[in-house]
Amino acid sequence: MSDPAITSKPAPLIRPDKDTFLAEENPFEAMMERFDHAAKVLNLDPGLYKVLRNPEKQIIVSVPIVRDSGEVEVYIGYRVLYNTSRGPAKGGIRFDLNVTLEEVKALAAWMTWKCALVNIPFGGAKGGVVCDPAALSMAELERITRRYTSGIIDTLGPDSDVPAPDVNTNERVMAWIMDTYSMHKRHTVTAVVTGKPVEMGGSLGRREATGRGCMFVTREALTKLGMALKGARIAVQGFGNVGSVAADLMAKEGATIVAVSDKSAGLHNPKGFDVPDLIKWVRERRQLAGYPKAEAISHEQLLTVDCDVLIPAATENVITRKNAPQIKAKIICEGANGPTTAAADKVLEDKGVFVIPDILANAGGVTVSYFEWVQDRGGYFWDEETVNRRLESIMVRSFNEVAAATEKFKVNTRIASYIVAVDRVAAMHRLRGMYA
Ligand code: NAD
Repeated sequence: MSDPAITSKPAPLIRPDKDTFLAEENPFEAMMERFDHAAKVLNLDPGLYKVLRNPEKQIIVSVPIVRDSGEVEVYIGYRVLYNTSRGPAKGGIRFDLNVTLEEVKALAAWMTWKCALVNIPFGGAKGGVVCDPAALSMAELERITRRYTSGIIDTLGPDSDVPAPDVNTNERVMAWIMDTYSMHKRHTVTAVVTGKPVEMGGSLGRREATGRGCMFVTREALTKLGMALKGARIAVQGFGNVGSVAADLMAKEGATIVAVSDKSAGLHNPKGFDVPDLIKWVRERRQLAGYPKAEAISHEQLLTVDCDVLIPAATENVITRKNAPQIKAKIICEGANGPTTAAADKVLEDKGVFVIPDILANAGGVTVSYFEWVQDRGGYFWDEETVNRRLESIMVRSFNEVAAATEKFKVNTRIASYIVAVDRVAAMHRLRGMYA
């Protein structure tokens, strides 16, 4: 613990004295703060510490395309392979104006720890293209996807780097990546991406996997606190893939969904929403706003509403040191990646809130992506019941491993999950030795 390599941190990426709020929100710093804590507890060898603090590979590519207008535009694309010691890199690709290399690095590191935590044989990666998909036609999006894929094609492959959907990308985009890669390889390679349409090698249960995983770990956490899913009052921020599926499955298990929100609105109904009716509303109107059977609340009120479980399933940095003191939930299940800042962690710990950290809570998605990759490589497909049963087994086992580490190391659940994950990655490095 007294090792200088562990205790001396490199200069912060954003100086806290200049802007503490921004420092709290820097995703790479937030990840590193938790990693450092775990490394100290594990008394990680200083050399290994240095290796694990740095991404293995960072690729920046220009993505030139001809727009529908005939004009040439050049976009910037990133792919970061954070660590591949345990297997092929695994991680989503996002299309968004806010994509930065710093964010992609943090998300790639998170993927490394997430895959290790649920003990699937993948490393961690992330990618993105800086663009506004809403301002692009379908044909332009396809050209961006194919050109970006060819730009990073040397790293891609079922044995080296396997992308998946992320913000603003979907199974359509995965199908284009699979096709582009396969055309270059001169044969069909379905296992190069996951989150594909089921008709082309996608897995049954993948669409619901992240929300279903949230349901399993929330059930385990409630049991640990002497409660049950049946009757638990749940608030969900974000009503997209993760949030709506989690709400739906939990309601089917007898939970009461008391509040939901999306970008357009926050809704409160202490008696409980009819979730299939909400899903139908959003399917038809693409937003929650205007839903009649509820009282409108603000985005901030949703986070602090009276409930047993809060599921942030929208975006990063929503639970901060400013609003954490007002949170009433006994359990926070982090469906989104990075919804809680490191500063807020401390507040929640002092309040005794049971946090199911993102790298555990939302790992259902990557777990079924792993099942998809296994099925593609084996050319043998499982029924949905088998997928869900195997997912449950991995989520419950991982929850119990984190709970055991929390008690063993006397740390909060987030640091415990980093300890389990970092220890697994470190063990692989020690066994493999240093190639030089
Ligand atoms: P999505 O685009 O389907 O849904 C996002 C939802 O959040 C939408 O309803 C949107 O309106 C809402 N939203 C955005 N900003 C908001 C705000 N400030 N306040 C309230 N609502 C807001 O995305 P998704 O696939 O459900 O992913 C949600 C989160 O879960 C992301 O952080 C993503 O990285 C993470 N995640 C997703 C998966 C997966 O399998 N989809 C897996 C792991 C992690």
